[in-house]
Amino acid sequence: MNQPDMNNDIERVLYSEAEIAQAAKRVGEQLAADYQDRTPIILSVLKGAVLWTVDVMRHMQYAEVEFIDVSSYNGGIASSGNVDLVTDLQTDINGRDIIIMEDIVDTGRSLKFMIELLKSRGAKSVTTASLLDKKDGRVVEATVDYVGFDVPKAFVVGYGLDYKQLYRNLPYVGVLKREVYDPQHA
Ligand code: 5GP
Repeated sequence: MNQPDMNNDIERVLYSEAEIAQAAKRVGEQLAADYQDRTPIILSVLKGAVLWTVDVMRHMQYAEVEFIDVSSYNGGIASSGNVDLVTDLQTDINGRDIIIMEDIVDTGRSLKFMIELLKSRGAKSVTTASLLDKKDGRVVEATVDYVGFDVPKAFVVGYGLDYKQLYRNLPYVGVLKREVYDPQHA
């Protein structure tokens, strides 16, 4: 029986599994050093940042992990411009050091929304570690403190990043073939 193969939907691989593992180690070790005298809360942004979170945190020391879900994409390939809090985090963060774990920062709207939310709740400090930084997509000011890779302005999937909830389980990050989201282009 012929099994469907997700890899056929990828135009080109940008970051291989091995390169991502190296980036997770580099960022995790940097965080371990920078937070050595603190116990931060790693705030993983659902669902895209889950793989990146677990791979980075393996290289860290004392840290808690929490989850938050915000949405700005509505499942398509372009940001809607509005950010919604879909699932709130479940703990008191007053006085705590927070590390937001993102899959990708594009317009910066989601990140800005979360930083403002966390500060309004009394977070002592907030930094961001993102697998990908799409700097050319920025619409609002938002700085990523720890970056896996600077990514060009293309729609990418894999290693947590989805298109219509698929491709998150690819072990690498790649550019999706245009015909997958634009049938006219086939
Ligand atoms: P921002 O609010 O910075 O525009 O968008 C952040 C969110 O948009 C990310 O967490 C991610 O869900 C989504 N996003 C932005 N660019 C891409 C992309 O190239 N591929 C995928 N799959 N999602 C993206």
